[in-house]
Amino acid sequence: MEMEISHETNQDSSNTGQPHESFYLVLPYLPLFELLAMAEVCRSFTDALNDDILSWLNIVVDEKHRKRRISDGILMKITSKATGRLNTLVLINCTKITDHGLQDVIAMNPNINKLHVQHCIGLTPEGIIGAVTMLNLHDATLTSLKINGIFNLTKEHLQRLHSLLKPDQIDVGICPKCDEVTMVYDCPLETCERKRTMRGCRGCKSCVSRCEECGKCVGFNEDEDSEAACEDKLCEDCWIQLPKCGFCNKPYCTNHAYKQCLLPNSSGFVCEACYYGIHQYQI
Ligand SMILES: [Zn+2]
Ligand SMILES: [Zn+2]
Ligand SMILES: [Zn+2]
Ligand SMILES: [Zn+2]
Ligand SMILES: [Zn+2]
Repeated sequence: MEMEISHETNQDSSNTGQPHESFYLVLPYLPLFELLAMAEVCRSFTDALNDDILSWLNIVVDEKHRKRRISDGILMKITSKATGRLNTLVLINCTKITDHGLQDVIAMNPNINKLHVQHCIGLTPEGIIGAVTMLNLHDATLTSLKINGIFNLTKEHLQRLHSLLKPDQIDVGICPKCDEVTMVYDCPLETCERKRTMRGCRGCKSCVSRCEECGKCVGFNEDEDSEAACEDKLCEDCWIQLPKCGFCNKPYCTNHAYKQCLLPNSSGFVCEACYYGIHQYQI
């Protein structure tokens, strides 16, 4: 389904009644699409939203909105409501956005400080470098750039971005193990012995396994990591602390804890695999 934003003008003020005061208080906290939906509810909401610039300064389209396909044209309409004062532009997985669409928005909004466009596969490294260069022409307000999941990022691209931003302001780096431009993780454990050894434990996800809970490196020795019920890796400490399936004794990581199947008359849970296993057994 294509999303249409009605373009109403403020000139016709024949509507009666203003939204309640509290309406303005909640506006900055509403997610983008709720705002757009509300803007279509009635004329007084539309007028109020068009007048309320604060609501439009931080545009966030994240995982929750993945199925809404934002196009260049729709993005332009949404961002134009910030009247050139856009602070945050977060577009995750918006596959229809092109370099051209992004540059149009950047050209009109020189003060963006957060540009997160992970997995926007319609964007190219050149397009992103162009956008950051354009932002740097002004006061260099950009402090956070996230481009993980953009195709064909090379070391040369990254070097050019490093001439515009500090390395810690960009989410990707060069993995010391495979030499690819990707997300590179450090071990949070100060006392990690592997940090000091020749090989180290800094690396991308495909080079170094990490505990899903604490990010610590795992899996160098056979018996060191444990698999969670969700098949993520866990370190021993985190594995011990998490609640376990009453049947197979495997825990879920926090992210996947919603998969716990609760049993009647019991305070515990079973994992999905065991839950369906049990039911098959009864049939
Ligand atoms: Zn790697
Ligand atoms: Zn851990
Ligand atoms: Zn480590
Ligand atoms: Zn289980
Ligand atoms: Zn998990």
